[in-house]
Amino acid sequence: MSEGLDVAAATAWLRRFADRIADEKGWLTELDSAIGDGDHGINMHRGMSAVAADLADQPADLATLFKRAGMKLVSSVGGASGPLYGTFFLRLATAAGDAASLDGAGLASTLRAGCDGVVARGKAELGEKTMLDALLPAADALEAAVADGKEPADALTAAAEAARAGRESTIPMQATKGRASYLGERSVGHLDPGAASATLLIETLADAVADES
Ligand code: ADP
Ligand code: MG
Repeated sequence: MSEGLDVAAATAWLRRFADRIADEKGWLTELDSAIGDGDHGINMHRGMSAVAADLADQPADLATLFKRAGMKLVSSVGGASGPLYGTFFLRLATAAGDAASLDGAGLASTLRAGCDGVVARGKAELGEKTMLDALLPAADALEAAVADGKEPADALTAAAEAARAGRESTIPMQATKGRASYLGERSVGHLDPGAASATLLIETLADAVADES
């Protein structure tokens, strides 16, 4: 039986995400060198290292954990991705409220709230070659899988698959938001770095819930 996301699983998620970002730092920076300024791996690594360093004393509730992570990202990352990922986690904190644990439906509505925060902050929508092209399909897939009666771990597996497909969908897109939009048509033919890191975010959430439950 899958239990969903409690503080231990959410802490494991943040740790795993920090580890994957450290592993993929070079790749993310390479992607950003093609259509941006080559700092996405460095930005995310700086931010998630600061978040991971703050995980030693585990807070009692999800909202505190997510709020701390969001504030660390906002304060430690200079690029566009810091405020965007920071807003994502701050919105998770608000959505989690005083819940000790999120079941499938809670996970779906909380992920949706995080995505809405990124949309509100960055004013981008689906198809503009940003992290939202991975995040929004993941949120849709999670909602659909939960509505179908899937357990949280299985529903998140579906969300991670949707994030990967969404990441790949950015290749033929022309960027119309963020730094890559300065390239116009020359942004076509490249994977968006933020969609790549956002896929790691969803994959590590799926892994954390599968392992902790
Ligand atoms: P910067 O662009 O400031 O150098 P990063 O390189 O860390 O920051 O992050 C770039 C990523 O941020 C892009 O690949 C894209 O996915 C994401 N991004 C940029 N602008 C937006 C936006 N307005 N909405 C959503 N995501 C965005
Ligand atoms: Mg950059």
